[in-house]
Amino acid sequence: MKLKKVNEMSEENSIQCPCGRIIEDPEEYKVLFLKRELQEIDILCPNDSCYLRELGYIKFEIKDNKAVFKEASFYPPFVTWNSGRLGSDVAEKILKEHLKKIAQRLDWERLGQQKASAAQPV
Ligand SMILES: [Zn+2]
Repeated sequence: MKLKKVNEMSEENSIQCPCGRIIEDPEEYKVLFLKRELQEIDILCPNDSCYLRELGYIKFEIKDNKAVFKEASFYPPFVTWNSGRLGSDVAEKILKEHLKKIAQRLDWERLGQQKASAAQPV
């Protein structure tokens, strides 16, 4: 039996940060390229006053001056929170999709050409 109201559907199938921010579109995440030495990009919550701030990371390698995707993951507090809300199967599926979309929108060519380790948004 389905007792869910229609107006609850969208929120129920949306990813949420433990700070309360709903993230419906992977475009909403902020990505920050701070760690060239570690070849890592931080995925941040769109909420500036989020207490978690870092929700995940994307790792890459530099090959022939080109950045190549290595691995991406969200951190346990964020994943656990959403598994609790949506069920782990659903949460895992959506989060995987989000990681894929975030990775797709990165400028990989530019990443590979960054020289200094200066902090700059991607
Ligand atoms: Zn947050």
